[in-house]
Amino acid sequence: MALSIQQLREDLESFAEALSREEYLTRAGLKEESGAAAIRERYALLGSRAVFEEIWAAAQAAPEAEGARRLAALAEFLGTTCVEYQARAANDQLATSEANQSLTLDGERLPLRSAESRIRNEPDRSRRAALEAARLCAVAELNDLRQEILEAHHREAVRLGFPGYTACCQALSGIDLAALRGLTQPILARSQDMYADVLTWHLRRWVGVPPREARRHDLARLFRAPEFDRSLPASRLREATEGPVRRMGIDPRAGGRIRVDDAARPRKTPRAFVATPRVPDEVILVVRPEGGGPDDYAAFLHELGHALHFAHIEGGAAVEDRRLGDASVTESYAFLLDGLLRERGWLKRFAGVSQPRDILRFAALHKLWLLRRYAAKLDYELLLHAEGPGARAAEAYRELLSRATLVEWPAEPYLADVDPFFYAARYLRAWIFEARLRDLLRERFDEEWYRNDRTGPFLLALWHQGQRHRLEDLARELGIGDPSIEPLLKQIADDLA
Ligand SMILES: [Zn+2]
Repeated sequence: MALSIQQLREDLESFAEALSREEYLTRAGLKEESGAAAIRERYALLGSRAVFEEIWAAAQAAPEAEGARRLAALAEFLGTTCVEYQARAANDQLATSEANQSLTLDGERLPLRSAESRIRNEPDRSRRAALEAARLCAVAELNDLRQEILEAHHREAVRLGFPGYTACCQALSGIDLAALRGLTQPILARSQDMYADVLTWHLRRWVGVPPREARRHDLARLFRAPEFDRSLPASRLREATEGPVRRMGIDPRAGGRIRVDDAARPRKTPRAFVATPRVPDEVILVVRPEGGGPDDYAAFLHELGHALHFAHIEGGAAVEDRRLGDASVTESYAFLLDGLLRERGWLKRFAGVSQPRDILRFAALHKLWLLRRYAAKLDYELLLHAEGPGARAAEAYRELLSRATLVEWPAEPYLADVDPFFYAARYLRAWIFEARLRDLLRERFDEEWYRNDRTGPFLLALWHQGQRHRLEDLARELGIGDPSIEPLLKQIADDLA
């Protein structure tokens, strides 16, 4: 064997730290050129097929469950690292191009990464449409590069010995994607009427557009929800989001291990994220605030959920248990916190909203929209990875997303709107789990579980475990039964009632 397991772990730790710092700097808009490829080359052994094959074989043959679990997590990491290694130069080029790409409108140059924010904040529909058209052009300009990356991923999956990319992701993650598709597709039909009703109402009243004529940019405007800026102002965001964490007896900064970067920078990505240079000791929560409103609150709460989880993982645990494993687990904790926006008591007591019904309905609509979008995305990504990129995939993307969102959806982002290794599946699994976890918290720690100091130790004990247990095992341990979409749909229906 080229490396001992111990060396492999040490390499993994310093590689993950270096990569995380680099990604933080480029995505937060602090650095123009991405240098991730150089880091991958420095740790080329982690992207070597021979090392992957050895660990993969060892994981299959491991006699004892704990050892097999860690080896499987390591094999998943090595397999995805091999795949990413092949596309390292193109990936850097894409990250750099995305950060530097701009669009021109009426003689004004606007960074691509500021376009979505401008669209959301533009009340004039024709100006919004012009911004969206310019944005879509800029997105399409990078599609060749995205296609190159995707094809490199597909080729490497086969070289690793799998029949194709989907089979590779499935084998490495242990997630049955076809079964998940079977579980989540019914969400679309089951929630169709409820979604159509509440969407129509909001589009008419807030954006002044009948749903038949609505475009993606109208939805972006709808979800910006300036109506709620006064109810959920930027000035109260920190207190409202961190208040319940303190009430549960948890330090929202985890004793200084969590740092918040909420500075406004034009090249900062609009998508909030958490960087984890060191787990659990150095966690950076990155958001790009837009001046308040439900989206800023939801983004902050979501990333706070991730940050709290990472910052409370057992420090002495093996690197596999701190850094690797099923990301559906951390997404569940993030959804648990952003779900506070759908808790009447939180809106009243922590956000100071005296009449929470409108925000509650709005937040439920937003959640349902996300859920429908991701159910469609999983369906689409299975097709994309089976057929490969091209006109057919772009058309399928447009059609499936239009059908799920009930709004005419553009085809151009058909490669930009795809996270590698079916990350969409992690979100879907997490939503399904989180609804059951929320029901459990309500049962055990009262309806307003986020005000109960007994909830804190319960959550801390879960966070402490990192991602060593898969969601299925965690659900069994908590006694919340098999995966089902029922609790999820019921909670949304209750909030919309
Ligand atoms: Zn997340």
